[in-house]
Amino acid sequence: MRFVHANSTVSGGGVAEILQSLVPLMNSLGVQTERLVVSPDDPEFFQVTKRIHNLLQGAQGSLSEQESEVYYRCVGEVAKEIDSRGLEADVWFFHDPQLLPMASLMPKRNGEVRFWVCHIDLTAPNAGVLQELTPLTQHFDGLAFSLPEFVPSAINGHPPHYITPPSIDPLTDKNRPMEKEEALGIVAAMGLDPNRPLVTQVSRFDYWKDPWGVMDAYRWARKSVPGIQLALLGLSQAADDPEALGVLHSVKDYASGDPDIHAFFYPDDLPDSIDRIVNAFQTASVAVLQKSTREGFGLTVSEAMWKGQPVIGGNVGGIKTQIEDGVNGFLVSTPEECGERIVHLIRDESLRLQMGDAARESVRQRFLLPRLAVDYLRAAQSLIA
Ligand code: UDP
Repeated sequence: MRFVHANSTVSGGGVAEILQSLVPLMNSLGVQTERLVVSPDDPEFFQVTKRIHNLLQGAQGSLSEQESEVYYRCVGEVAKEIDSRGLEADVWFFHDPQLLPMASLMPKRNGEVRFWVCHIDLTAPNAGVLQELTPLTQHFDGLAFSLPEFVPSAINGHPPHYITPPSIDPLTDKNRPMEKEEALGIVAAMGLDPNRPLVTQVSRFDYWKDPWGVMDAYRWARKSVPGIQLALLGLSQAADDPEALGVLHSVKDYASGDPDIHAFFYPDDLPDSIDRIVNAFQTASVAVLQKSTREGFGLTVSEAMWKGQPVIGGNVGGIKTQIEDGVNGFLVSTPEECGERIVHLIRDESLRLQMGDAARESVRQRFLLPRLAVDYLRAAQSLIA
């Protein structure tokens, strides 16, 4: 059997993060697996697909005729190229809306099984755009979603769908245990004070990650804990996300020169690898936040929980499936609530440790990479003739 996983960026963002570990794992299990990065030349493609991503997560508006033309033309060109290069697979996984038109545009070979894997939060999509794009799912043999509530009702069992939430690789530099001392050393090398409490959110600079709400929460908590510092770590930007720079500028404006708000974006002159820097901030923080307003899953939540951190997360999408409120973290709906929980965790060290143990254990049971590999194998097995 030969598997191919196709997505639209080499690095940056959760899907690239999963595939860079999943592909070697599958090969080491004896399943020949390849990664295909589909990146059309037309720069407008990622503008359009980012808009589709936003619309499917609930933004207002609609797709113009010109945007649809770019979308289908670019995916069509890639489909043709795959076909003309004779790239073959028994099982294809096309990840995310960027590649949703692929099955309708790529000639199907005998016996091939094709999945569309949707990693985004479809809790409250833009109804018009969802209706427009849902027929594209019908050309696949199977669909995969992170949560049952993301499955559009119009699919109605055809084709079959699978629920496979993402998972993290515990063996990467990002997720291997790091001593607190070493983590604090890296945090200091990044310009923060290792002796003052640190609050971190690790996220692309993206509207749905709510960096403004994170800053409000920090300001709220600072009234009770005057020395705290905030890190917004957005070093791994994805090539398919053209909005990041605009969000970064807005974040900088909103920070209004506060020297204790550290927003990291440019990956130059870093004291260590990005993976180890993420690890260090997740390990050294007194509170890790993921205050998204929409989230397909949020690998960053499991990454921090794996390090024994009770994460404070937005009460949305995939975050709700990872955090059990008050048991292994906190779910919050407003910046004030988030700020209160930061103070709570800083003041109650024993609660923090106890919830952190529960956090690590729940990731161990539910969100490590072998589980995802098995989910994909089972889904493929159920459709292979
Ligand atoms: N990430 C990173 N460096 C950063 C910011 C993010 O390596 O500065 C990684 C993060 O650790 C996680 C991935 O990017 O592995 C983001 O995945 P997630 O599912 O949280 O969100 P997405 O970006 O896919 O919306």
